[in-house]
Amino acid sequence: MNYYAGIDIGSTAIKIALVDENRELVGHKISASGSMFYKYAQDTLKALLNELSIDEKDLIYTVSTGYGRKLFKEADENISEITANAIGARAAAVGKSDVKTIINIGGQDSKAISLDNDGNVVNFAMNDRCAAGTGKFLDVVALKLEIDVDKLSEHHFRSEGTPLPINSTCAVFAESEIIGLLGNDNSVDDIVAGVHYSIAKRIVKLVKRVGIKEGLYFDGGPALNSGLVNAIENEIGKEIFIPEFPQITTSYGAAILAQESYAYENKAV
Ligand code: ADP
Repeated sequence: MNYYAGIDIGSTAIKIALVDENRELVGHKISASGSMFYKYAQDTLKALLNELSIDEKDLIYTVSTGYGRKLFKEADENISEITANAIGARAAAVGKSDVKTIINIGGQDSKAISLDNDGNVVNFAMNDRCAAGTGKFLDVVALKLEIDVDKLSEHHFRSEGTPLPINSTCAVFAESEIIGLLGNDNSVDDIVAGVHYSIAKRIVKLVKRVGIKEGLYFDGGPALNSGLVNAIENEIGKEIFIPEFPQITTSYGAAILAQESYAYENKAV
């Protein structure tokens, strides 16, 4: 059996997805990017193949993507994360939702991608200058509030009443603002909800730059946070589709492209 890998080397996490000949997802693995992107990507790939009892020689084509994509020297090809995201999103939502507008929040950037009816990227907007509106912002908040990032949603849904306004547009100043809110005896739940709504407002502005179309879809690690999803849906006034594994869809798209490239090259020979 032949297998194809998509390796997404993000600023925060390395995501690897493996597909078979039919482009079915057979497995995936996520690890921290840390300081040695290349080594950790190699280790993660080896560990995934081991877990699935797949021989390295059966992995016949690899496409890398993401921030550190050029560092993965063994890749047969590398592609932009916008393209990989678009392909992975459509495949992850097939039969469940139309995908016309992708919201992707990563560790250090956020993007809005607009697709046409055939899935081609027609426009995109990106925020990569400022941590506000990214996973980093959520990580900083969680650390300050002494909670795990995967528990933010529980706090969000426990908050009652109007979410606290977080006015700072910079993550560093927002941290000081949160310290002030804690000092004024505000609950962690209300602060978390306020943070989610402040990110949601920024994301809605970003999405408006490419145009909000029906078929809204959200992925990247922070899409695992249902509290943030709730805040974005309320701010945008529309339902948003979240795939089963939102953090790995860009690597899944790269894996699908690996299978396509291999098939295409072999046909041409
Ligand atoms: P990148 O591709 O830029 O490395 P990811 O899409 O992997 O970024 O997202 C990383 C971010 O996802 C982290 O900074 C963190 O805030 C968030 N995240 C990761 N796992 C979870 C989880 N289980 N629940 C909520 N948020 C999460």
